[in-house]
Amino acid sequence: MRVPQEAPGLAQIRAAAKAIQGQADGTPLVPSALSDRIGQPLWLKLEICQPTGAFKLRGALNAIARLGPDVAGVTCCSTGNHGRAVAYAAQARGLRSVVCMSELVPPVKVEGIRALGAEVRIIGRSQDDAHAESQRLAREEGLAEIPPFDDPGVIAGQGTIGLEIVEALPELSLLLVPLSGGGLAAGMALAAKALRPDLRIVGLTMDRGAAMAASIAAGKPVAVEEVASLADSLGGGIGAANALTLPICAALLDEVVLLTEEEIYHAMQALYFEDRMVAEGASVVGIAGLLSGKVTATGPVATVLTGRNMDMTQVTRIMAGQDVDLGGHRVKGAPYTP
Ligand SMILES: *Cc1c(COP(=O)(O)O)cnc(C)c1O
Repeated sequence: MRVPQEAPGLAQIRAAAKAIQGQADGTPLVPSALSDRIGQPLWLKLEICQPTGAFKLRGALNAIARLGPDVAGVTCCSTGNHGRAVAYAAQARGLRSVVCMSELVPPVKVEGIRALGAEVRIIGRSQDDAHAESQRLAREEGLAEIPPFDDPGVIAGQGTIGLEIVEALPELSLLLVPLSGGGLAAGMALAAKALRPDLRIVGLTMDRGAAMAASIAAGKPVAVEEVASLADSLGGGIGAANALTLPICAALLDEVVLLTEEEIYHAMQALYFEDRMVAEGASVVGIAGLLSGKVTATGPVATVLTGRNMDMTQVTRIMAGQDVDLGGHRVKGAPYTP
C-alpha cells in the first residue's frame, strides 16, 4: 500500500506543532535505566506527563483547532484516552462535548472524562457500537465528530511527537511505537521518515485482538474480536472504512511486533522497578519488545510512554507479582526479576 494523498505532510505536522504549542507539546525525553540491559541508549518520551495523562491530547487539540468558529460542539467514540483528550480540548475552547464509549472501558476512565465536563454515553460492547452513536450525534445534533485516529488533523497532531523526538535525537536508529488504530504510528512515521528516511520504525501491540496487524497482513481492514488486555488502550478495531492510518502504517512501518500479556506484565514491572515510573500496559510495549528479544536495537532507540490512565489496583497487583484476572484470561504473575 502507498501513503494516500490526503495524508498530512511535514508542513501540516509543523502547523499542528504551532496549534498545540504551550498546551500539549514539549514533554520530557529522558534516558532509561534499562539502557544497560538493552545494550544501547534507550530514550523514553514521557507523554504520561500530559495534563490528560496521555498523548491523545495532541491530536484532539489540533483537530478541534481546525474547526470553524460556529461549530455547535464535538463528539467522539473512545476506549478512554481519546475521550479524555476531546473533553479537555473542548473545554479549553468552551465547546460542548459528548463522548461515546463501550461497556469494556474501565470505570476509572469514564469518571475522568465526566470530570472534564463532557457528557458520557455508554453504548454496546465494541468500539464500532460507540462509533455508530457518535456518528448519529454528528448527523442529528450537528456536532463535529473527532475521530480517534483516522483523521488528517488527529494524525498530524500525534505526528508532533515524532518531530520532537527526531529533532532532539539526530543519532536515533530505531523508533518503537505502540500501535492500535495507528494515528500515533502514522503521524510519527510521517514526521520521522520525512526528516530521517533511514530511521527504522517498528509498531508494537498485544497478540490478542491486534486489528491493525491483521489488517496490514490482509491488505485491507479486518475486524478482530475485542478482548481484555493489560494494554487496554490498544484494543478496538481500525474501522471498516479506514482510509488513512492503514495505508500509512502499511507503507511506513518497517515491522509490526506482537507481545504476550506476560511480556507486557514484565515490562510494566521493569519500568517501575528500574525507572521508577508507572505507565499503562499500552505504554510499555516498546520496552516489552526489547526485553523479550523480539526487537533488537543496534543503536540508540526511543519509545513513547503513551499514557498512565490505568486501574491502580491492577498496578499494585502487578508490582507485587500477583496474577491478574482479565475476565476470561488469567495473566500469570511473578515477582520482578531483571
Ligand atoms: C490510543 C493509545 C495508543 C494507540 O494509539 P493509536 O493512535 O490508536 O494507534 C497507545 N497508548 C495509549 C495510552 C493510547 O491511549
